[in-house]
This record gives sequence, structure tokens and C-alpha cells, in this order.
Amino acid sequence: MIKTILLNNRPIGKPTVSNFEFVTEDKELTISKGEILLETAYVSVDPYLRGRMSDAKSYVPPFELNQPVQSGVVAKVIASKNEKFKIGDYVSGMLNWSTQQVSNGEGLNKVDGHKAPLSTYLGVLGMTGLTAYLGLTEIGKPKKGETIVVSGAAGAVGSVVGQIAKILGLRVIGIAGTDEKIEMLKSKFGFDEGINYNTTKDMKAAIAEAAPNGVDLYFDNVGGPISDAVLFNINRFARIIICGAISVYNETEIPKSMSVQPFLVKNSALMQGFIVSNYADKFPEAIQQLAGWLAEDKLTYTETIVDGFDNIPQAFIDLFEGKNKGKMIVKI
Ligand code: NDP
Repeated sequence: MIKTILLNNRPIGKPTVSNFEFVTEDKELTISKGEILLETAYVSVDPYLRGRMSDAKSYVPPFELNQPVQSGVVAKVIASKNEKFKIGDYVSGMLNWSTQQVSNGEGLNKVDGHKAPLSTYLGVLGMTGLTAYLGLTEIGKPKKGETIVVSGAAGAVGSVVGQIAKILGLRVIGIAGTDEKIEMLKSKFGFDEGINYNTTKDMKAAIAEAAPNGVDLYFDNVGGPISDAVLFNINRFARIIICGAISVYNETEIPKSMSVQPFLVKNSALMQGFIVSNYADKFPEAIQQLAGWLAEDKLTYTETIVDGFDNIPQAFIDLFEGKNKGKMIVKI
């Protein structure tokens, strides 16, 4: 029995489970020369997938309707006619939301569950860890003693950004949506300050209080009014790293937003967006650095692991409700 999840219709506003269709096929997959048969072990759900579900031009083509949704997956090789892979190997890569699938191995990386838990290759040692490290270091160019604000701080990317900034000697302020998350930022991840944007009336004042010397770096995962409040507090030559804008991903109209230009001009500040794949040539050294910090216990991580293939769409939707702490992953 093979289960697959297709994109049934494009979400309008917040995604719902009815945007997806489950297909169950009672068949056995066979492989030809050069192919491998994969059994899915862990599926990553990520906010950026929302963009691919829309029919808008972006850096990757949209998902096609009635075709499998794809995301980062860790899978086990259960049959192989490809000399690069043997039965029992685990691989990670962009794969279908299917319990089993055939691949020619292109774009897949072998991962070692003895070196680190398999799920971490979708998080701290995978795409989100790379995003945190490369966005912060390549664009942010952080310097010891500076102050950084991180939004979406308790999520997969944000929690790693804050910890790396601490390792590099910065004062770190995290913004997240619950008191429990703020507590976690400070006690588990070593953030200096945390601000719950859901209970704070005046974000601009709260950021000013948490950053008495002003904000030198802002790692922006959310966009919208939270980011506006940070801009009021930036210093001269601030660097604003635009990683994502989850607060507007489900908007059906172009949101009215504050003009950022005066803030950037007045402060000679830099604002730059990025896609982690811009830095693909730096992935090996970045992974080595992240794995090194993990081994030295300088870096830690948290995951929200949801059980069961059928729960993939709901786990994805729950990202927009802040139900995850750290990386949201579905275990199959
Ligand atoms: P997270 O693990 O951070 O999960 C999403 C979190 O966003 C939720 O837990 C929730 O936390 C927060 N959130 C949801 N809705 C809102 C809202 N309306 N306003 C503010 N916060 C909200 O996801 P990732 O770490 O995987 O991704 C973080 C960001 O980075 C996303 O914007 C994503 O698109 C982007 N990204 C960009 C990449 C790139 O290459 N540029 C690569 C990977 C990710 P809370 O409870 O705090 O609200």
C-alpha cells in the first residue's frame, strides 16, 4: 500500500486540509537500472512551501495541481539498482510526500544516523540550519558586542540564528508568540531577552528596552508590524537580513506596509533578502561548522515531531498557528 499526498487545489488565505488529496495505491513499486526504491522516514514541513502552493512567480516553480507535494525528506533505501546506494542507506533530498517512491538518486545526499539523529538532517544540520548560519554570517557580518534581534526566534531557523549569534559574542533578543517559547529561548538557547509579540502592546518600546544600545542586526523571519517595530530601533550601519515573511504568506491582498526607505537612509542601513541556495557552494563548510558546534555542545536544537504520514498537511498548517517549537517534522 503506497500513500501519496497531492495538491488538490491552491490555498486562498490560510491553507486547510481540503487543499490536499490523499491517494492510496495497492501496488508494488519496481526499479530499473540506476534507480533506488525509497521508504520515507521523516518529512519536513516548512513555511516556504506555502509560496509553492500559489500560482505566483517565484524563485522555484509552483507545485502543479494533482501532483505530489514535495519537501525535504529523509528516506531509507529499501531496494537498489544504483551502485552509489545500498539497501539500508538513508538519504535526504527534495522528495514527494509519499510513503514510498522511486528515485534515480540525483540530488540526494547520504545521511548517517549514527553521527546525528536522522531528523536533524532536515533541521539544524539541514536546510534550516544552513539558512540560519549563512544568512547571519554572509549578510549580517556579525561583530562581537553588537545587538541582534531575531523574529520567529523559537522556530527552526530563528532558534539557530540566536544561538550562533551568542557563540559569536552578540547580545541576542528573540521575538516569539508565547511565554513558553520566550522561556525556552532564554533557558535552552541562551538568548539574553525575549519579547512575546502576542502580549506586548508596544513592540517598539519593548525592543528599545531590550536593546538599550540599539539594534545592529535584525534577522527577519516574519515581516509585517513586528519588523516595522524593529526598524524604529536600528543603529547606524545596521544590517537587516530578510529571511522570510511568514506573517504575510497567507494574505490575499498585497499588505499595506510602512515605508522602510527613510529608516534605511537615515541609518545608512543595509536590507537584503536571500535564498539559502544562493550559498550552495558554502554548504559543506557551513555543515561542518554547525556539526562541530553541536559536538562541542555550543549549539543545541529542539524539534516538534508529529507522528504519522496522514498528519503531514495538518503539521504544515500548524506552522501558521505557531504550534511548533524548533523544527516541525513528521515521522512516518
Ligand atoms: P518556523 O520553525 O519558525 O515556524 C514558523 C513559526 O512562525 C511559527 O512557529 C510561529 O511562531 C511563527 N509565525 C507564524 N505565523 C506568524 C505571524 N503571523 N507572525 C509572526 N510569527 C508567526 O519556520 P522556519 O524556521 O522553517 O522558517 C522561518 C522563516 O524563514 C519563514 O519565513 C521561512 O519562509 C523562512 N525561510 C527562508 C529561507 C530562505 O532561504 N530565505 C529558508 C528557510 C526558511 P510564533 O509562535 O513565534 O508565532
